Amino acid sequence: MEPAKYKRIVLKLSGESLAGDQGFGINPAVVEDIAKQIKKIRERGVDVAIVVGGGNIWRGLAGSAKGMDRATADYMGMMATVMNALALQDALEKLDVDTRVQTAIEMRQVAEPYIRRKAIRHMEKGRVVIFGAGTGNPYFSTDTTAALRAAEIEADVILMAKKGTDGIYDSDPNKNANAKKFDSLTYIEILNKGLQVMDTTATSLCMDNKIPLLVFNIDDHENIVRAALGEEIGTTVGGNE
Ligand code: UDP
Repeated sequence: MEPAKYKRIVLKLSGESLAGDQGFGINPAVVEDIAKQIKKIRERGVDVAIVVGGGNIWRGLAGSAKGMDRATADYMGMMATVMNALALQDALEKLDVDTRVQTAIEMRQVAEPYIRRKAIRHMEKGRVVIFGAGTGNPYFSTDTTAALRAAEIEADVILMAKKGTDGIYDSDPNKNANAKKFDSLTYIEILNKGLQVMDTTATSLCMDNKIPLLVFNIDDHENIVRAALGEEIGTTVGGNE
């Protein structure tokens, strides 16, 4: 068996990816499928940290567009990510994968608070760590959380699993039949071309800290494993520029 390419990864799962085809809420069969893939990666000795989104339940921007206070709506979004984190922990523990959830907003009855050194220690002991509640701050996203945590725990790469697309395109492939997929890109190209990969805060954090990113399709049932083991699927965004 070839050694895995990465020693430590941050896997970014959008909320949508836990919803499956129903598009909303949490689909336990989909979560179980993702958990099985994570177990395989762990068994290859890769340290796994996961950042989960919350868009399958609530997005702050959608709330504020309907007249809600933006910060309040964002806190609701962060709560949504914790629900997803617990669902994922449940699925992993059913497969005997030791898992800890750490939240950026304290809720000690439910999960540990985020403590960087403790998160690293968990991974050294073979545990999967799930980061819930984003950065703990409104006006941010879980993509920015993935960039921040990847820098903090010195992850080798961010694996960004997307639903419905197999990489980064120059335009929306669902709307433009001639959309061209990139095999690789730089962060500055993403910013200059205004490509819809992640928000600019997340993109610039990755760029400034030279964190490599791989964007790939989660709809294929083995892709998380493939990505973690270093197969060149999707679009890679370099960490050197
Ligand atoms: N959120 C936030 N601060 C953070 C991370 C998330 O306020 O650091 C809120 C924000 O309202 C966001 C929601 O949580 O819309 C869900 O996160 P996100 O949209 O990133 O989830 P995803 O699109 O990955 O499912």
